[in-house]
Amino acid sequence: AKREGKGRYVFYSEDIMQLYAENNKLANKLKYALDNSELILNYQPQYNLETGKITGLEVLVRWIHDNKFIPPSKFIPIAEETGQIYEIEYWIIESSLRQKKIFETMGNYDMTISINLSSKSLCSDINFNNLEKIFLSYDVDYSHIIVEITETAIISDIHFAVNRLKKLRDLGVKIALDDFGTGYSSLTHLKELPIDIVKLDRSFIQSIEEDGKDAMIIKSILYLALDLNYEVVAEGIETEGQLEFLKKYKCQTGQGFLLSRPVPIESIVF
Ligand code: C2E
Ligand code: CA
Ligand code: CA
Ligand code: CA
Repeated sequence: AKREGKGRYVFYSEDIMQLYAENNKLANKLKYALDNSELILNYQPQYNLETGKITGLEVLVRWIHDNKFIPPSKFIPIAEETGQIYEIEYWIIESSLRQKKIFETMGNYDMTISINLSSKSLCSDINFNNLEKIFLSYDVDYSHIIVEITETAIISDIHFAVNRLKKLRDLGVKIALDDFGTGYSSLTHLKELPIDIVKLDRSFIQSIEEDGKDAMIIKSILYLALDLNYEVVAEGIETEGQLEFLKKYKCQTGQGFLLSRPVPIESIVF
């Protein structure tokens, strides 16, 4: 990309070709990532904002290739395009359930484990059947397993998505609507979707201290969610001010760099 004054970028077809080639290379390397143990899972603690206690963990995948960190925002879309996401997500879910079992064995039954599920996985028939099977094959308390999905996953075919989410819920799993507020018609979705939790997107949290409007939106969502009986999780809490605001307006649960970054499971201090 060439820089053209005031931070604007103009893209030329060469750049697109280069990006395409790069993605192709990554897709090829990704094939071996699982077998070579290059994918690892980090866990970001979620806290009860009132008591400060850890109530759950969000599972976030990491790819370390040739000592370099490739962010999920880069390789997940590629994996979705190539279909590699199925195998990767299967592994993530299985590892997460195994971790849940370890907690239970240690006598900790209340810790929730939140797993991000790509829309691709939710929508593919064969894959979804496989997912249902792993979900059934672990003997854990499923009411403490949360599947996080984004609004964009649902919007393309809402009835279909609702059916799939209901199937997951039939297993006892809870559903969280991720990045809430960034989609098109969040409020309509809330009414139609079988969800238990809404996750306030980081973009709102970021500006609650300065921007009067975002603060109002957050307050309204918190009231609404309370009325509709949803749990609200705030993500991306980075400052004390943001934390205070969320506590003041009775947001039960939160996560963010201020409280803890995503870390390997053995680094979590309970
Ligand atoms: P997400 O599900 O919305 O995850 C939250 C992202 O925000 C994570 O980035 C997390 O590290 C980051 N984060 C948490 N607290 C803070 C904070 O206080 N400040 C800032 N600036 N960031 C914070 P990450 O791990 O890079 O993941 C990015 C996205 O990649 C995720 O967004 C999710 O959409 C996707 N992703 C990550 N792991 C998985 C996975 O296992 N499966 C699937 N399907 N997608 C995943
Ligand atoms: Ca998430
Ligand atoms: Ca999110
Ligand atoms: Ca996100």
